[in-house]
Amino acid sequence: MTTQNELFEKSKDLVPGGVHSPVRSFKGLHTTPRFIKKAHGAFIEDVDGKDYIDFCMSFGPLVLGHKDSDVEKSLVDALSRGWSYGTCEPYSLDLASFLLSKIDFVDQIRFVNSGTEAVMTALRLARGATKKDKIIKFNGCYHGHTDSMLIKAGSGLAGTSEASSAGVPEGISKDTLILELGNTEEVIQCFKDHPGEIAAIIIEPLPANNGLLIQEKSFLEFLRKITKDNDALLIFDEVISGFRVAFGGMAELTGITPDIVTYGKIIGGGLPVGAIAAKKEIMDNLAPVGSVYQAGTLSANPLAMVGGLETLKKMTPKAYEEINANTTKIINVFNKWLKEYNDGEFSHYSLTSHSSLFWIVAAEGVNCMDKIPADITEKFNPLFETLLEKGIYLSPNAYEVGFVSLAHNDEVIGELEKRLWN
Ligand code: PMP
Repeated sequence: MTTQNELFEKSKDLVPGGVHSPVRSFKGLHTTPRFIKKAHGAFIEDVDGKDYIDFCMSFGPLVLGHKDSDVEKSLVDALSRGWSYGTCEPYSLDLASFLLSKIDFVDQIRFVNSGTEAVMTALRLARGATKKDKIIKFNGCYHGHTDSMLIKAGSGLAGTSEASSAGVPEGISKDTLILELGNTEEVIQCFKDHPGEIAAIIIEPLPANNGLLIQEKSFLEFLRKITKDNDALLIFDEVISGFRVAFGGMAELTGITPDIVTYGKIIGGGLPVGAIAAKKEIMDNLAPVGSVYQAGTLSANPLAMVGGLETLKKMTPKAYEEINANTTKIINVFNKWLKEYNDGEFSHYSLTSHSSLFWIVAAEGVNCMDKIPADITEKFNPLFETLLEKGIYLSPNAYEVGFVSLAHNDEVIGELEKRLWN
């Protein structure tokens, strides 16, 4: 078989930077991206035959682990019935009714193909429902790559808008107001500065795209209240946290209910799905009932619906207990190793975690962008390379979190210990 290095050379010719998503790039590292030929449970194996304990898990969707046998069986069955109909089918109803029976603050759901699409629709829906244009977004929250969400501002620029990607027109960025996570004063001031103009606040209730910037519950409660008081909507982007921290995501865990929620990742069990859910009064704004347009050739794809349902059926309360307990064990193992390795080479690191997510960071108490150490990437890269060499795969980026799955069981944890201290 062609080697990894040969594949990467070929890939660089055919695909920008050799990758189909920049988070897969090994930019700044002394090695090239691994080309994975197969995966099973907690393991991925590259084309050179080396295997890794995977803590990237496709950036979150694979909560059961790779190639879960029940999901596989349901997909094989689904394949035999054809894989896209472009009309109504029963499979999305099975998934919708299963979800809606368990998440009681929403009445309806619409399936799309990615988290980005879900957020794009949620924003249009919020604007259409409120007839207002501006959206408050927090610095450090990622909501996919729709133009209006690719905006950031340093703390000195709070309340103003500056695009963080080329190609985002000023006309679009001006309606996204960037504020600092956890700063209630800024939110109050922003509503004063833009009376009657703010359609919604969007937040990752567990910000997990610039490390893990865990927020106080009181901040989410404050956002709930200020949006209500100002006739604005609260959007929880639960693309990562939905079905991970609890079945109903952070909304269930905190008891704080948003007006609109977006899902992705686990909802498709590793197949491309995103979703928007809300009360019927809000969802009625979507076409064909209302005038907010949204569509998709492959939306509610039958394979993805079946893969999602089979995955979610396994996320019982017991499964959450198990995955969280295993994460605690994994964190203890990593923390011990970080202290001991090579006479303390990595001893300044600690792991921040929430449920089955963790982040390796070289500082304590990081909960907003300002507190992330400036040299985080330079410090992370040697750690990443050491772990890779030992057959342990993290996302190749200091800002990404690690994901634990139900397949990361005691046996895998034993193997992790063996590999770390080897
Ligand atoms: N919102 C959040 C909170 C996310 O974590 C992501 C993806 N990491 C997205 C939106 C975009 O999802 P997708 O990559 O499926 O477009």
